[in-house]
Amino acid sequence: MAKSDYYEILGVSKSADEREIKKAYKRLAMKFHPDRNPGNAEAEEKFKEVKEAYEILTDEQKRAAYDQYGHAAFEQGGMGGGGFGGGFGGGGADFGDIFGDVFGDIFGGGRRQRAARGSDLRYTMELTLEEAVRGVTKEIRIPTLQECEKCDGSGAKAGSKPQTCSTCHGAGQVQMRQGFFAVQQPCPTCHGRGTVIKDPCNACHGHGRVEKSKTLSVKIPAGVDTGDRIRLSGEGEAGEQGAPSGDLYVQVSVKKHAIFEREESNLFCEVPVNFAMAALGGEIEVPTLDGRVKLKIPAETQTGKLFRMRGKGVKSVRGGAVGDLLCRVVVETPVKLNEKQKQLLQELGESLGGPAGDANSPRSKSFLDGVKKFFDDLTR
Ligand SMILES: [Zn+2]
Ligand SMILES: [Zn+2]
Repeated sequence: MAKSDYYEILGVSKSADEREIKKAYKRLAMKFHPDRNPGNAEAEEKFKEVKEAYEILTDEQKRAAYDQYGHAAFEQGGMGGGGFGGGFGGGGADFGDIFGDVFGDIFGGGRRQRAARGSDLRYTMELTLEEAVRGVTKEIRIPTLQECEKCDGSGAKAGSKPQTCSTCHGAGQVQMRQGFFAVQQPCPTCHGRGTVIKDPCNACHGHGRVEKSKTLSVKIPAGVDTGDRIRLSGEGEAGEQGAPSGDLYVQVSVKKHAIFEREESNLFCEVPVNFAMAALGGEIEVPTLDGRVKLKIPAETQTGKLFRMRGKGVKSVRGGAVGDLLCRVVVETPVKLNEKQKQLLQELGESLGGPAGDANSPRSKSFLDGVKKFFDDLTR
């Protein structure tokens, strides 16, 4: 297949200068760049063509050869033995540099420094457990740097504009010759921005940003927990001179709850019961986030026993099933007893200490048996 003409590929005339060629190349490379045309083989082919044309036409020697011999100048064995062979071989490294230069400009990976993006901000938001579990919308006030309204963030006085830097002509870089080498350095006049502000805006002194506090309405999704953070894109500090703003991170901190403790999607709470109820069984009311529910306490419930109430926990913001509420029953020793109560307990105590007592208190019995064995072993 015949190769297309390099000038035609770039859409420039045979007399186009380097600037025109670069411009045409930038435009076409942007259009056909593989990152912008994923999976498009035709675009990739075009991109390669454009790149090749650019590389040849921006190299003085190669362009001259092409103008004289056409594509034959670069064919294997064609002109290879001629005066160009050596030069081309050694020129490989240059291609990369030129390519990098132009691409840096287009895709932001290059040497030209942009005005700095605004900083990210962090805001710690305290929530009650209920708010965290159910979700809430809260207004917050944050001090921040915002784009200056007077100059629309440009930093230049009303009616004026940032000027292209005359030292680097907008490139942000200057070339310093050091013997054989040319070294790129950030432009000392514009500090790499490519533009200078002759007449700074008096509201922001040329920074393009002013200090202000802003009120934001933040929607907290249901199920968040301490340590979760919500990113509000672009709500951080404004960038310098119109550069993009940073992000705002709202960091969730859940306050300690009087009753519940949360662990992932489960809730825990302690429920005291008196020991008559623990021994005989009964029904108590326990709190859940949705109100009170009844919990059956079976007879002979020991202190510390956990009762699981399915689905009374939390649904995590990350999804998954709703957790459980785990109620730990704590048997409470009665205090401030009156005479009658004391007497009843006395009788109960005697009864438990009597001949049948061992059966009433299996844990005490096994403990005492263990203690006895321990001392027996010591004296053996
Ligand atoms: Zn400059
Ligand atoms: Zn301003």
